[in-house]
Amino acid sequence: MVKPVYGEDAALLEKMRAGEETVWVNLVLEEASKALKALDYSAKDVKDASDRLKRFAPLLMRVFPETEKTGGLIESPVSEIPGMKAYLNERGAGLTGRLFLKRDSELAVAGSVKARGGIYEVLRHTETLALENGLLSGTDDDYTKLLSEESRAFFATRRVEVGSTGNLGMSIGIMSAALGYDARVHMSSDAKQWKKDLLRSRGVTVIEYDGDYSEAVKQGRALSDLDPASYFVDDEKSADLFLGYAVAAERLEKQLAAEGIHPDKEHPLSVYIPCGVGGAPGGILFGLKLLFGDAVNVWFCEPVEVPSMQLGLVTGLHEKISVTEFGLSGKTEADGLACGRPSGLISNVAEHLVSGGVTAADTRLLPYLRALYKADGFFIEPSSCAAFTAPHVLYACGKVKEPGENAVHIVWATGGSLIPEGLRNSLING
Ligand SMILES: *Cc1c(COP(=O)(O)O)cnc(C)c1O
Repeated sequence: MVKPVYGEDAALLEKMRAGEETVWVNLVLEEASKALKALDYSAKDVKDASDRLKRFAPLLMRVFPETEKTGGLIESPVSEIPGMKAYLNERGAGLTGRLFLKRDSELAVAGSVKARGGIYEVLRHTETLALENGLLSGTDDDYTKLLSEESRAFFATRRVEVGSTGNLGMSIGIMSAALGYDARVHMSSDAKQWKKDLLRSRGVTVIEYDGDYSEAVKQGRALSDLDPASYFVDDEKSADLFLGYAVAAERLEKQLAAEGIHPDKEHPLSVYIPCGVGGAPGGILFGLKLLFGDAVNVWFCEPVEVPSMQLGLVTGLHEKISVTEFGLSGKTEADGLACGRPSGLISNVAEHLVSGGVTAADTRLLPYLRALYKADGFFIEPSSCAAFTAPHVLYACGKVKEPGENAVHIVWATGGSLIPEGLRNSLING
């Protein structure tokens, strides 16, 4: 340990190092208004991202007709899951409010939460290039012009690259290739074969590396940096990914309002999100805190062997410590969460805003996956199932007060719909 940590947090770190499941309550959580004021980002940045996505909506409807029903917005439903609430309560959870599932597992185009941040970053880069190079006359121009032969010929001279264990690569790769970019995804050779196959079928170049994911990112970034025509999406640092994810909150607010749910002090909201490098959960956390302030509590959920964000925040070392430096293996079945080092940008954002987190043993993933499918009929990928650990253990462990029957709980499902049918069936049926 590079930095000394005392008391409750020191005991927590011991358990984490032993690979045990933990419940972490953030001792430096602040009032939302105070914590938000200290950040470099504000509601204006989220609005800017949201407006940009609206400008691209006509284009998205043309490229991905499945987005027509949402007017070119990439958005997922939120559904109540009473069957899963009963399942968790039979196993001691003690939930008295309503339990919902935010179904980003079914987001259009990329089939995961990465469709929010990843597609946003590609569009933002595209808008910048288009304005600089005269493909668009201004932000009030017709963005479907970017689908013309002339625009495509231009994008073909430009590269978009990303290092990914899978889902981010799919989001960035599919969107970039659809606009005509030379799209390249750098992956470790142990990334899932079906993801590589799917990307290649969409015209994306997949480059494989023998080392782990961070090696793929490092090499991909180095190659990209040598070439001015190449744009590298860096998920450890990207503000665009973060803001793309943050837009989820205003959309969720409308969906909840349609259900008659208006979170406030008497009707608190608890949100449980699986966390990898931190971009998706951090963006959603930021967006939700801007809208609901102290009425929302957000909890991050990570694998016991890869608790990167929890480690960075509890030690205060942020991106300067990785789980392998700490002594853990960094290996997990939850491939979407297998990032050993947290994002520095998100560590700063989450430091005083996140309520805490839990770590989950891999043995929880399949039982939750099957229970959800059986009880409420939704299929989500194993990584995403880590999120059920939080409502299951948080209140039962006695460290956190159960928020009561007026509360709404949301488990954020982060991926699943692109999983090939054969694999899906074997996950459901064993
Ligand atoms: C990427 C991912 C996450 C977490 O997002 P981060 O930005 O890496 O923290 C969660 N679930 C799934 C399925 C993912 O692909």
